[in-house]
Amino acid sequence: MTGWKPVIGMEVHAELETHSKMFSACPVVDSVTAPPNTAVDPVSLGLPGTLPVINLQAVEYAMMVGLALNCEIPPVNQFARKSYFYPDLPKGYQISQYDRPLCINGWLDVEVTPEGGEPYTKRVRIRRAHLEEDTGKLTHVAGGSLVDYNRAGVPLLEIVTEPDINSAAEAEAYARTLRSILQYLGVNSGDMSKGVLRVEPNISVMHPDDAEFRTRTEVKNLNSLRVLFRATEAEIERQIGLYESGGEVQQATLGWDENKNRLVVQRVKERADEYRYFPEPDLPILEISRAWVAEVSAKLPELPEAKRARFMDELGLNAYDARVLVMEQAVAHFYEAVLAAGANGKSAANWITGSLFSLMNANGFNREDIEKSKITAQQFAELVKLVDGGALNKGTAATVLNTMWETGADPARIVEEQGLAQVSDTGAIAEAVARVLAENESVVQDYLGGKEKLFGALMGQVMRAMAGKGDPQVIKQTLTDLLEARRG
Ligand code: ADP
Ligand code: MG
Repeated sequence: MTGWKPVIGMEVHAELETHSKMFSACPVVDSVTAPPNTAVDPVSLGLPGTLPVINLQAVEYAMMVGLALNCEIPPVNQFARKSYFYPDLPKGYQISQYDRPLCINGWLDVEVTPEGGEPYTKRVRIRRAHLEEDTGKLTHVAGGSLVDYNRAGVPLLEIVTEPDINSAAEAEAYARTLRSILQYLGVNSGDMSKGVLRVEPNISVMHPDDAEFRTRTEVKNLNSLRVLFRATEAEIERQIGLYESGGEVQQATLGWDENKNRLVVQRVKERADEYRYFPEPDLPILEISRAWVAEVSAKLPELPEAKRARFMDELGLNAYDARVLVMEQAVAHFYEAVLAAGANGKSAANWITGSLFSLMNANGFNREDIEKSKITAQQFAELVKLVDGGALNKGTAATVLNTMWETGADPARIVEEQGLAQVSDTGAIAEAVARVLAENESVVQDYLGGKEKLFGALMGQVMRAMAGKGDPQVIKQTLTDLLEARRG
């Protein structure tokens, strides 16, 4: 198995969340929840005599994505017909783009954290991103297939990379980073389970002696980033296994069987597809002025990478915290709302990436669900401020956070009702320390005799004696003072 190098190029289809479809005023609806065939019109059904009109908002959204991916936007852009026959394609052709796509020659830097390895940055070149229309949706049932044209004609952006990706971890990191950018741009929700974002890796493997790429396969229908990772790993292993046992890889389209947790062959390609592309005669060539590009460019929001750099520069966050806080836009929103409510940046970052994320994991919350928890950003900020201000120690604060998670109550109220306020009163602490020392004479003797590690045990005893509410800093100081006094 040694020496083989995976070669992966990604094709991502992202629906653009415009109000209307790519070539008509027909509304775009949620293709999972809307009743079938309720958002259709003569244009999206491709009825004879209809004419398409370009949705300018879709062009702008696509341009935003292209600019965020460091692409060139060529001055001339043209739609093309891609002909094929399938029941979900009412016109018998899809309006797409061929030799004059909207965006070309870009790149995206992605941070990869391989399992058990050091993080590194990988640059993935973007070959092109072009606009097209989505197809309808088929549902196979006993005795036939049902077709829903709600999705037919929804603006779709296809983003294609060069084969620069060399592992499943890199493929997942690329998709995660791209998804995050689409969410920040507000053009796509990133919900892979609904199919609004569809990620397809093209996979081959290379032997050190190879001068050229080998045959690739394409994996479709991956409905989460986790599945993308698993399916890519499985396919790399399958191909290496085939070559090592003297076999060959056949060009094919594969899918992932969610129930069986394995790859299935959907279609073996015997010859190249023939789409008979030609310029779409019903649409004008779109000339894209530099002024328009500049105008769209000026409208781009702060993107994850810039936000991360700012969190590190302005708030002093470490690279890891900054990254996990920006990756999901919902998390970044929550964090920024916590800051706006007056919490310290570093403390808030620690509490979110630590205790809050653990609570979310334990309760089956994805990161993007952060705003669905009962804890508001305002309340979270209050908790952080209580700790930073010394009113609450960290151990108790974790307990308070648990209660906040369950009840949605204000932290100050929980502290008051449960009597959890931190005790910093030196008198009360000195009393507790003296009591613990008196009750643990032999430990004290061992400590004074050189077993310095026992300090921790004594510290723990005092914390317990004060029901976890004592201020650790004050306890530590008092304990040190009283023990030193014993040395006489
Ligand atoms: P087309 O779809 O027009 O045939 P290509 O075959 O050139 O385009 O590429 C489609 C995708 O497959 C791109 O993302 C590309 O990087 C990737 N790709 C091309 N060749 C290979 C290969 N041998 N192994 C892995 N990925 C590949
Ligand atoms: Mg394609």
